[in-house]
Amino acid sequence: MDYLSVLWSFLLLLGLGAVLGLLLALAAKFFHVEEDPRIKEVEDMLPHYNCGACGYAGCHDMAEALVSGACKKVSLCKAGKKDKNHEPIIEYLKTHPDKDGNTNVPSL
Ligand code: SF4
Repeated sequence: MDYLSVLWSFLLLLGLGAVLGLLLALAAKFFHVEEDPRIKEVEDMLPHYNCGACGYAGCHDMAEALVSGACKKVSLCKAGKKDKNHEPIIEYLKTHPDKDGNTNVPSL
């Protein structure tokens, strides 16, 4: 076995990994999209099953829809419980308007 070719292969893959990692880090920095921080807060109040029973692709999509007002009923989250998930989300959205002062409060 030629140990020198193994070493060169290792170094080549190491360098390639470093360059691609750097490119990914730069892309993440320059193409970063600012998201409404309420989406993360609402998502954290959902059950995190990502089951899709609400009709959305997952809890993050459901949280986006609740915050934007596209989803009008928080109980569409079938996996969520009224006292543990639904009501806290309604209370949170009542007290946290968007940057223009508007609130999109879903019903139960
Ligand atoms: S039904 Fe609830 S737990 Fe399931 S994906 Fe929708 S928001 Fe998440």
